[in-house]
Amino acid sequence: MISIFKDGDASIWIPVAKGKNGGPARAFLPINGLEGTYRYGYKAAPSTGGYFDALRDVQQSFVENEHKVFVVNSGRKEEKQYRARWRHGNETGSPLLGPTLGWVRVQVDRLDELAESHLEKALPEGVKFAELPTADVEPVLCDSPESLEHEASKLFLETKLGKPLGQAAPASQMSSTEQFVRDAAVVAYVLRDARGICECCVQSAPFTKPNGLPYLEVHHVKRLASGGSDKISNAVAVCPNCHRELHHGANSVELAESLYSKVSRLERE
Ligand SMILES: [Zn+2]
Ligand SMILES: [Zn+2]
Repeated sequence: MISIFKDGDASIWIPVAKGKNGGPARAFLPINGLEGTYRYGYKAAPSTGGYFDALRDVQQSFVENEHKVFVVNSGRKEEKQYRARWRHGNETGSPLLGPTLGWVRVQVDRLDELAESHLEKALPEGVKFAELPTADVEPVLCDSPESLEHEASKLFLETKLGKPLGQAAPASQMSSTEQFVRDAAVVAYVLRDARGICECCVQSAPFTKPNGLPYLEVHHVKRLASGGSDKISNAVAVCPNCHRELHHGANSVELAESLYSKVSRLERE
């Protein structure tokens, strides 16, 4: 269930209406600006207010399921109307919408950069309440292969995972061999993006891990030891054969080079 917005809250629930006849979904975003006025409420008895007041009222009406029966068509018909509705736009005849698709919680400071399509995507079939993934995921730093594997599997299985920020210059730590403190979010994101297919030879992962995830390894195209970044734009998910070849093959330079044209996520460093 949603919560009613209070001044100072960092996030806010936005109602989203199904598109008409398969058209795009419509959301109650500040399309008239945060300072503009909005029409909402009963079709037969509309209200107007500023963006946050109007949205709060729509939220409250939804939580309380406010409805009333109005006599319409010059007294010829009774119609049950719900108050958790809003006008999409300010023009006369702009549609009156309700939260028929669901509600999406977004960060208040992102309100002016969001499009209705972002909110629509956050609500797959059957989901009524969802949170918009945050734009950038802070690094989840891991200083051992075990913790990296553990954290990355956890993140992989999370339903929301935004784009990781990664690290421009991961710290190295000396043990018997040089190791780097790596970001598990980068690993999880790249593995998800690969969808179980090696990004080098384009074959399926050779086997499945006990936790059900396809086995692929994350390789940095420009090596961390050569100053490569720990970012999704420098990492690929590859099968163990390709990984060995990328490190030890006679054609490893050409093979690495070929990745830049195969994987659109990559950027040269
Ligand atoms: Zn491969
Ligand atoms: Zn590697």
